[in-house]
Amino acid sequence: MKTFRIGGIHPAPDKITAGKLIVAVAPSGQLRILLSQSIGAPAKPVVKAGDTVLPGMMIAEAGGFVSAPVHSPCAGTVAKIEKIRNTKGLWQEAIIINVDEQADQNVPERPRTPEEIEALTADRLIGIISDAGIVGLGGATFPTRVKLSVPEGKKAEYIIINGAECEPYLTCDDAIMRIHATEIIRGAELLKRASGAEHIIVGIEANKPEAIDAMRQAAAQYAGVDVVKLKMKYPQGSEKQLIDSLTGRRVPPGKLPIDVGCIVDNVATAFAVYEAVYLGKPLTHRVLTVTGPEVADAGNFLVPFGLSLASIIDRAGGLPDDTGKVIAGGPMMGQAVADLDAPNAKGTSGILIIPAKMSERKPTGPCIRCAKCVDACCMGLEPYLLMTLAQNALWEEAKKHSAMSCLECGSCSFICPADRPILDFIKLAKSRIKAMK
Ligand code: SF4
Ligand code: SF4
Repeated sequence: MKTFRIGGIHPAPDKITAGKLIVAVAPSGQLRILLSQSIGAPAKPVVKAGDTVLPGMMIAEAGGFVSAPVHSPCAGTVAKIEKIRNTKGLWQEAIIINVDEQADQNVPERPRTPEEIEALTADRLIGIISDAGIVGLGGATFPTRVKLSVPEGKKAEYIIINGAECEPYLTCDDAIMRIHATEIIRGAELLKRASGAEHIIVGIEANKPEAIDAMRQAAAQYAGVDVVKLKMKYPQGSEKQLIDSLTGRRVPPGKLPIDVGCIVDNVATAFAVYEAVYLGKPLTHRVLTVTGPEVADAGNFLVPFGLSLASIIDRAGGLPDDTGKVIAGGPMMGQAVADLDAPNAKGTSGILIIPAKMSERKPTGPCIRCAKCVDACCMGLEPYLLMTLAQNALWEEAKKHSAMSCLECGSCSFICPADRPILDFIKLAKSRIKAMK
């Protein structure tokens, strides 16, 4: 079975919600919709307090080239536009909508006929994807339109569809693949047409046999689509590692996937592209996993953007009494949530609730020079050294030793027998190096 060549670790998968269906959550009460839901500039509101909104209506336009518009997931009235705290605790502008619970909350479909879809040019496809506010739903939230705009002199050969879902606990991608395989493959075909790529490869880790079967069946209707079973290894779902696993190509430091002829999109992104082009629906909801060892009704939920994490957790049986930490995303690359009133957004792939006994940091020991962190690093870095350089504020040296190539996968901290907070220090070094610029 294929996998990437350098480093990697094998955390316990803990996929408590594997095999669960997707439960739809209706908008209710108040939705607080962040204007910053993609990497890049925040969107600019096109509504004001007192305006009536409908499901699927654009409420904020893209704020720049690297940005994406935002749409209302519900019918209701704009109460105000104000700064609220996001999951990291940072203050960001949001449009606050009072949901009209008597109104129809379904986002209307405006389906295109097969002939209309066939006639769409690459530019028009990119335009539809852009207008629908689609960003990378694997967590990176890079606007999909920007990825598809291949720079002059470069060529996309492969559309790589990321179904690896190597993060422990999360199963939202698995659920979408099991339930919406045909739609994902149709979305991937559209991404291929929009970018001018020649091949589609879907990469899925071996612990999702039902998803692999469903995707293979759906792909059989199309020429040039490969669904590849991957060996389980973290961080397989990281762009550079997935490209290595599936094509054997290496993305050099500081370069992008397109520099080696690849565009990588998550399965949920491909599904969103299908919905935008086939059904005329913008991105207003996403599937996320609410999970944790003590969560009563852990599962996969289709959730409108703007609901508070607290109210989403309520749908999964509520916050367990012994909760020590709530993480937005998975345990490896997710981030501790500062405020449960913060709303979910396009990049929220999961809510992981960790019991108190599991969330305590272990005491840190001295480095025993075992080199396990070096073996685990998929970017070929020397994590122990980068941590030492950061501890001594040697930012130039950290830069010389490629701190900026760290993709923050956390494998080094995970594997360290001395429980050293390696990644925390590397993140500090990266922020200081960025500030030096
Ligand atoms: S967090 Fe960075 S340094 Fe640590 S293993 Fe991952 S890529 Fe390497
Ligand atoms: S894994 Fe931990 S103890 Fe081993 S070399 Fe790296 S920092 Fe030191």
